Amino acid sequence: MLNIAIDGPVGAGKSTIADEVSRRLGILHLDTGAMYRAVGLAVTDAGIDPQNEAAVAALCDDGGARVDVRYENGAQVTLVNGLDVTGRIRTQEAGTAASAVSRYPAVRHMLVARQRELAREQPMLVDGRDIGTVVLPDAPVKVYLTATPEARATRRLNQLREKGENPDFEAILAEVNARDHQDMTRAVDPLRQAADAVLVDSSNLSFEQTVQAILRLAEAVHV
Ligand code: C5P
Repeated sequence: MLNIAIDGPVGAGKSTIADEVSRRLGILHLDTGAMYRAVGLAVTDAGIDPQNEAAVAALCDDGGARVDVRYENGAQVTLVNGLDVTGRIRTQEAGTAASAVSRYPAVRHMLVARQRELAREQPMLVDGRDIGTVVLPDAPVKVYLTATPEARATRRLNQLREKGENPDFEAILAEVNARDHQDMTRAVDPLRQAADAVLVDSSNLSFEQTVQAILRLAEAVHV
């Protein structure tokens, strides 16, 4: 199957870039972070502490955190236990819970299996942290999309300013570095560039230049 794997650290613009590239190629975009967020939400909704690995694993084993995705007009709808949680997973709380539960093998095994099934059924652009290394090691196009911590923090700062907030750059940079550390040093499926992934550093690229860089890689293998 002609799949595209995009991995990279927080704030590299993966989601928006992946949306645009998949739209131009006419293929679906699977945002795997949304699936970890959905598990995080199921865990907190069940009154379970995301730090309690045994309780989270038991919930998954008992089928209490069944995650699925479907597409409406090409856009991903994320479901947990049959309920649409697409809007609810975008909170800070769901992100923090996702970060905790994504460390557990029980959660990863469950989601990786579903991600592989989805990517087997149709050509897809899949973005996450472990797509090129674990989920789709045979993907014909693999991209590691990154930017310097300063560039990523600056983008976040500008997003928050557009929302009318007045954030502190140093605090945002510290957050970016902390998330990098957590994603890159966790024991199970840490974030790293696959040996055969192409590095795209968007620090000095515009949105359109970044999209074009990935489209060129995709076109080279006739996706
Ligand atoms: O990308 P996003 O911020 O939505 O991801 C939410 C959480 O899920 C992050 O903490 C990230 O570490 C985790 N994640 C993961 N593996 C993936 C995608 C996301 O561990 N393939």
